[in-house]
Amino acid sequence: MNYTGTRSACKVSASLAITQGIASDGGLFVPEYFPRFQEGELARLIGMDYRGRARVILEKYLADFPEAELEECVTKAYCGTFDDDDPAPLREIDGQTFLLDLWHGPTCAFKDLALQLLPHLLTKAARRTMPEKEIVILVATSGDTGKAALEGFADVPGVRIIVFFPEKGVSAIQKLQMTTQTGNNVCVCAIKGNFDDAQTGVKSIFSDRKMAAEMASHGLAFSSANSINFGRLVPQIVYYVSAWCDLMKTGRLKPETKFNVAVPTGNFGNILAAVYAKRMGLPIARFICASNRNRILTDFIRTGVYDRNREFYVTTSPSMDILISSNLERMLYHLHDGDCAEVARLMTELKTKGRYGISRGRLGELQSEFWGGFCDDARAAAAIRKLFAERRMLCDTHTAVAVDVLEEYRKETLDTAPCVIASTASAYKFAPAVLPAIYDGPVPEDGFEIIRKLSQVTGTPVPPPLAGLNARPVRHDSCIEKTAMADFIAEKLFK
Ligand SMILES: *Cc1c(COP(=O)(O)O)cnc(C)c1O
Repeated sequence: MNYTGTRSACKVSASLAITQGIASDGGLFVPEYFPRFQEGELARLIGMDYRGRARVILEKYLADFPEAELEECVTKAYCGTFDDDDPAPLREIDGQTFLLDLWHGPTCAFKDLALQLLPHLLTKAARRTMPEKEIVILVATSGDTGKAALEGFADVPGVRIIVFFPEKGVSAIQKLQMTTQTGNNVCVCAIKGNFDDAQTGVKSIFSDRKMAAEMASHGLAFSSANSINFGRLVPQIVYYVSAWCDLMKTGRLKPETKFNVAVPTGNFGNILAAVYAKRMGLPIARFICASNRNRILTDFIRTGVYDRNREFYVTTSPSMDILISSNLERMLYHLHDGDCAEVARLMTELKTKGRYGISRGRLGELQSEFWGGFCDDARAAAAIRKLFAERRMLCDTHTAVAVDVLEEYRKETLDTAPCVIASTASAYKFAPAVLPAIYDGPVPEDGFEIIRKLSQVTGTPVPPPLAGLNARPVRHDSCIEKTAMADFIAEKLFK
């Protein structure tokens, strides 16, 4: 199994795809084909634990990683790092609807599932592909990736990490999680701009030849911990497969029944992992792509036109406040049967005109599997309220978007198939929006008082990683213009 680029063909090993992060022409790495589960293999996974399931799936994609190495990586990633034995447990809402809780890791959001594993994969891969280089991870974050990557890479030998976040685009808690990060190899910097500015800045630094030459002369090489890195995608396939295994194991899904997945979506990485799981043979029927008021993906799925020339909104689900959805490029590649020239053309259109359209035929194919919906902050809050009132279950603002959109989907299509909702963050991480949704009394001013109140009102414990946050000293307070990212990096690395 090798990897090729979305914009032009190439042939690289899994190790190189992960170390390099992004293809040299700005395209993303994709596997040459989708590995399939063998006859009876899926059924065998039912009897395994999460780590066993992860090993089987990783082996199929990461062909040049020795088995023992994968075993070691998986053990380091998922043993003792999550506050539940199962890193991705299911919670049943009703007999047909399940929350897949992906927030039991050290940063309380689903990014941990991939970012607890990626640093181990990356250091092994780098030793094979560029043994003489020190790796510099560049991250643009809408809030959750940054912290998850910092947790994963802090004090990992042979790697440094630089994280850029939008000054006003992350929650107070997300910001504090990042600016208090410890570790001798970490650097965190705010930019005056939004997430798309941060992501575009990082991507252009990746494809800057002069910068690459300067990096090389210092014995350094860039890599990415964003979901453009294929090493982020593989671990995410695992939890969809694992969810199916758990539903089968407990008899809540019949072997002949297909299920849907509903995913609160921003950069399209999480939902794309579900697509990969289906291509491998997992019996998923439909992908319900849920957006907040930044509904660019809803419009794309409904019309076939992707148009970023629109207003950008800051919402209560900041990790989905995105207008340039990077991983959609991989979906376009697969939708166009690997036609790199067409993907390159669409990406050029996006860059120059801010919009592109796909053909009617391709749109039809997309719509046969995808359903797109969106909801605003008020409806997300109502979904949180209803879930708590009716079921005493707590969910965060991102997950709530998917809960609401799923309900709309079911009303509109009358599809009654069981559905797994990706529950992407702990409600505590977004407590200032969650508390007023379920509690009619006065909401405290201070973020940590809000967290305490949420715990009191719901009788649920504050996740330990968030509990002590306000006592930690701020270690990173840089804030730069969005045009100064390259200079900032040069200052940090070459001086
Ligand atoms: C990152 C994130 C999302 C969006 O996931 P994508 O893979 O970017 O689509 C949704 N919810 C939360 C809490 C997140 O951190």
